[in-house]
Amino acid sequence: MSTITLKNIVKKYGDGFPAVNGVSIDIADGEFIILVGPSGCGKSTLLRMVVGLEDITSGDLLIDGERVNEVAPRDRNLAMVFQNYALYPHLTVYENIAFPMRLGKNKLSEDEIDDKVRLASAMLDLDEHLERKPGNLSGGQRQRVAMGRAIVRDADAFLFDEPLSNLDAKLRGQMRTQIAQLQRRLGITSIYVTHDQTEAMTLGDRVAVLKKGELQQIASPRELYEQPTNLFVAGFIGAPSMNFLPARVEGGRMQTPLGALEVPQRLLDAAEGKDVVLLGMRPEHFEDAKLVDEAIKPHGTTFSARVSHSEWLGNEQYGYIEYESDAKVKDLLDELARDLDGDEMEPQIVASFDAASRIRGGDDAELWVDGRRMHVFDVETGENLT
Ligand code: ATP
Repeated sequence: MSTITLKNIVKKYGDGFPAVNGVSIDIADGEFIILVGPSGCGKSTLLRMVVGLEDITSGDLLIDGERVNEVAPRDRNLAMVFQNYALYPHLTVYENIAFPMRLGKNKLSEDEIDDKVRLASAMLDLDEHLERKPGNLSGGQRQRVAMGRAIVRDADAFLFDEPLSNLDAKLRGQMRTQIAQLQRRLGITSIYVTHDQTEAMTLGDRVAVLKKGELQQIASPRELYEQPTNLFVAGFIGAPSMNFLPARVEGGRMQTPLGALEVPQRLLDAAEGKDVVLLGMRPEHFEDAKLVDEAIKPHGTTFSARVSHSEWLGNEQYGYIEYESDAKVKDLLDELARDLDGDEMEPQIVASFDAASRIRGGDDAELWVDGRRMHVFDVETGENLT
């Protein structure tokens, strides 16, 4: 049994801007929580405070209801898996996994150690490599040895700090699946830091999105994607990113640079009293109008636009549509792009079409956009009003 509770946690290095600023999260027993956000948002600092490698400036950290702010790292019984593996090069895989069990006051007998090493290595598919040294292993195998060490400790929780960032894309995918399966099988409370969206969306029960040390939203991957709380989360989750268009309510529709768009009444209500709002729409909510079922069309708007260029990916294609934007909206989107750690945002829409679409770069095309899943954001606060 292990719950982890963060109450209003703050971390200040020196007297600068807080690296973590009042974060509260309740992690249930057995839950898998992902901490995600752009570089410098404070996710590693938060994890290091949980494990005890970093002092907590203020706030409370509870493990199983007990305040542990001042408890030494080795007495917190948490197992940390780092990206650089921290394996001993001169020891075999067997000895690397056995290492933590030979330390401390509760040393195990050789038989107990052997049982645990064999069990962990079977789980991790390492049985055939037990006599090898880390230098003769692949990146993925080394990663599994590091996890084996965490497993044999019977830790109350696993803490992962970007454990896959040194691996190539294919191996990352395999290891991701293995970590997810292992965590479910063991049912151990886990916190996992990453800046990789795919890991965030596929591994966790819940994902905590951080920006400049502050928690923006913590929710299931689906809820984050479908109901982002603000512009930052909407822009951060999903690739390509959600599109944002300035819009004004006029005559029961949303007047935008792409034309007047049909939207449900609840979106018009959300924008009530605002001069301008940002309308958010994901790439997949666009389609080549020729490929949209007539029965569906009334739920959105068919419009004409020049597709400046397109990218065909086999299973889908992206079409880019440029539009004129006023200076205020451009500034807002540039600021969002900076927060997201990306390049400047061009005033353009990225639309995803079915791979069968004949639309190509340079075409004046008939497109369709679904009104039902759009969001309305406040231009001043960035809050999602829908
Ligand atoms: P990344 O993905 O780049 O590792 P992160 O989200 O994990 O970033 P942190 O490493 O937690 O971010 O850093 C949060 C902020 O605290 C950053 O502004 C960073 O410069 C600052 N910071 C981190 N460690 C220290 C330190 N030891 N001394 C001073 N400032 C620090």
